[in-house]
Amino acid sequence: MSNDFPLYFDPALFAQQQRIIKAEIGVGSIPRISEFVNHTNTSLLVEFSFSKSELGFAMVQGFISGTVIQTCQRCIQDTEVVVEQPVHLIMVTPHKMELAQREGIEIYEYDGQNIETVNLVADEVILGLPIVVKHEELDQCDPKTKQWLQGFNDEDKASHRDNPFAQLKDLKIK
Ligand SMILES: [Zn+2]
Repeated sequence: MSNDFPLYFDPALFAQQQRIIKAEIGVGSIPRISEFVNHTNTSLLVEFSFSKSELGFAMVQGFISGTVIQTCQRCIQDTEVVVEQPVHLIMVTPHKMELAQREGIEIYEYDGQNIETVNLVADEVILGLPIVVKHEELDQCDPKTKQWLQGFNDEDKASHRDNPFAQLKDLKIK
């Protein structure tokens, strides 16, 4: 982890100082993400720039990119999931929620003190992950699964060409 990457930060102070964070973080250092990935040997590049929104809220804009390893739901093998998550939010305390909604920017609620940086990163990454994880192409899946699924597809085509149930229906009508 880079030294420039703070464990906690004060959004108001960072916005005032227009701080920029750019760091590569190992997935293993982000507890809430490492919980549901198969390996923690990948990393995420976090690029955050802080400023004030129009109404004076602490705002962060940036991007989180990299990969995580999850289980393909088709073949139950590891698959690389690409993370490309744009980040644009204002950090707001509960009693200023009403005013903040006028900004029309995603709101991140916090207690007015500090935000744990990896927690913010985890929230944004989890938001962008697919609900059902799959290898992008069937060709990338485990060969046994591929063969199994292709078998079904062939069966499907065959039944369309010569559907025995269609003939039965004809017989009943006659
Ligand atoms: Zn797969």
